[in-house]
Amino acid sequence: MSKKYQNYINGKWVDAKSGKTFENRNPANWDEVVGTFPLSNKDDVNEAVKAARTAFEEWRLVPAPKRGDILRKVGDLMTERKEQIARLMTQEMGKVLLETRGDVQEGIDTAYYASSEGRRLFGHTVPSELPNKFNMAVRMPIGVAAIITPWNFPMAIPTWKIFPALVCGNTIVFKPASDTPATATALVEILIEAGVPPGVVNIVHGGGSEVGMVLVEHPDVDLISFTGSTGVGKKISEVASKTLKRVSLELGGKNAQIVMDDARLDLALEGVLWGAFGTTGQRCTATSRLIVHEKVYDKFLSMVVDKAQKLHLGDGLDEKNEVGPCVNENQRKTVDSYVQIGKGEGAKVVAGGKVASGNGLSKGWFYEPTVLADVTENMRVAKEEIFGPVLSVIKVRSLDEAIRIANNTTYGLSSSVYTQDINNAYHAIRDLKAGITYINAPTIGAEAHMPFGGVKETGNGHREGGWTVYDFFSEWKTVYVDYSGKLQRAQIDNA
Ligand code: NAP
Ligand code: MG
Repeated sequence: MSKKYQNYINGKWVDAKSGKTFENRNPANWDEVVGTFPLSNKDDVNEAVKAARTAFEEWRLVPAPKRGDILRKVGDLMTERKEQIARLMTQEMGKVLLETRGDVQEGIDTAYYASSEGRRLFGHTVPSELPNKFNMAVRMPIGVAAIITPWNFPMAIPTWKIFPALVCGNTIVFKPASDTPATATALVEILIEAGVPPGVVNIVHGGGSEVGMVLVEHPDVDLISFTGSTGVGKKISEVASKTLKRVSLELGGKNAQIVMDDARLDLALEGVLWGAFGTTGQRCTATSRLIVHEKVYDKFLSMVVDKAQKLHLGDGLDEKNEVGPCVNENQRKTVDSYVQIGKGEGAKVVAGGKVASGNGLSKGWFYEPTVLADVTENMRVAKEEIFGPVLSVIKVRSLDEAIRIANNTTYGLSSSVYTQDINNAYHAIRDLKAGITYINAPTIGAEAHMPFGGVKETGNGHREGGWTVYDFFSEWKTVYVDYSGKLQRAQIDNA
C-alpha cells in the first residue's frame, strides 16, 4: 500500500473537497507508487487563501527574530532528516542520492541564512533636508504569497522562496509540482513541527491549471513566486497583471560552457560531464551547449564522448549509479524528439542518442547520455532548452565568436568559461549575457547565499538566494518623524 497524502490548510490535514486523488510513481521503476495525493481545485485553493489571509494579521506582528527562531528549528529538523528526505526525493523524481542530499543541504543552508536574517532585515536611515526631522525606510510584510515550484529541485527551490517569505512576515499557499508532492509534504511537516502557526503555511496539491492558475488569478493573493518553464511563466505574468500582483519568475535556460585553447582540459572535462549529465541534464542551469575552440575541438570532443559513454545509468538509490532517469515519460519523449531534430538539422550523434536499455533500466524513463557534435549556432538544438541528458557541441575560432554564440539564445541564466588567461576571463564576465558566470567551473553549482537568477527570457529581473530575495518578499515603507513642533514643508524653497 502506498502512502496516502493530504493537503494542509488552516492547521489541518485534509483531503481535496472533491475527494479526487492522483498517484505519483518512481521514474526509475514505474511499478512503484510513491503515494496518492489530493487532486485539488479552486474550492481547496479558496480555503487555503482564506486561511493564509486571516493568519497574516497575527503573523505580521510576530517579531522577525522570533520568526527566524522557527526557521532555525526548521534547519535543525531538516539536518536530522536529511538522509530520509534525500531517499524519498530520489524515489519520487530520480536524481541520484549524492544530488538529492545536496538538494536537502541547500534547504538547510537556506534555513540558517533566513533564520539569521530575522535579526537583520536591514532598512535605511537617511538625513532629512529639514531640521529636527528623522527619515527612515523600513521593510514591511506584504501579505499572502503563492509559491509555485518545479520538480527538479523539490526541496531547495521551495525553501528559497518559503523561508525568506516567512521571515519577512508573509503567509504562504504552496503548490508544488505534481511530480514531487511527497518531498514538498516533508518540508511542510517540518515547518509545522518547528512551530509555524496554523494558516501561516498551507499546501494544496494538484495540477498547474486547476491549482496554480487559480492562485495566480486570486484577488486575495498578493505575491507569486514561480519557478518553472518560460511558457508557463509568460502566462502567469499576463494573468497576474490584471490584479497588479508582484511576480517573481525564474524560468528556463540554455547554458553554455566555453572551452578556450589554453584551458586545462582535464578540469573542463570534469566540469562539462557534471554540468551536462548531473541531474540527468534536468537543471535550469544544466550545460546544454559546449562551445570549444577549434584548436582543441577534436581532442576535447573525444575526451567528452569517451567519458559520457562510461557514465553509469540506473536507480539513484544505488550509489554506484551516476545518472538517474528522466522524470517522466513526457520528458523522455521531449529529449528523444530533440535528438531527432538535431539529426535532421545535420548534427552528428557521437554518444548515446537513444532510450537506454539493459539491466535494471527497463521500467524506468532512462535515456543514454547523448553528445551531438558539429552543431551550428542556428540549429534548434543550439538554441532551445532540452532539459535532459543531451549536450550540443559547437566549434569556434575565437573568444569573441564563442561569446556571441553563447549569447545567441532567448535565455540568459548560467554560463561558464574555461581559460587560463585572465584577460579572456574578464572579457567573458563583462560580455556574457547571463545572470551567472563561472570561471573554470561548470554552469551548475549555486550557493545559497548568492543571488540566483537570469536575464532575458529566463526571468523578470528578480533574484532568489542570498540577500536579494528579501527585496521581493518585503515592501518598503518610508517614514518621516518630525519633532520640530511646527509645520515644516519639504521640497519648497525654505530660505
Ligand atoms: P512547468 O511545467 O512550468 O511547471 C512548474 C510549476 O508550475 C509546476 O508546479 C506546475 O504544476 C505549475 N504549472 C504548470 N502549468 C501552470 C499554469 N498554467 N499556471 C500555473 N502553474 C502552472 O516547469 P517544470 O517542467 O516543472 O520545470 C522545468 C522548467 O523549470 C524548465 O524550463 C527549467 O529551466 C525551469 N527551472 C528554472 C529554474 C530557475 O531558477 N530559473 C530552476 C528550476 C527549473 P504541475 O507540476 O502540476 O504541472
Ligand atoms: Mg514521480
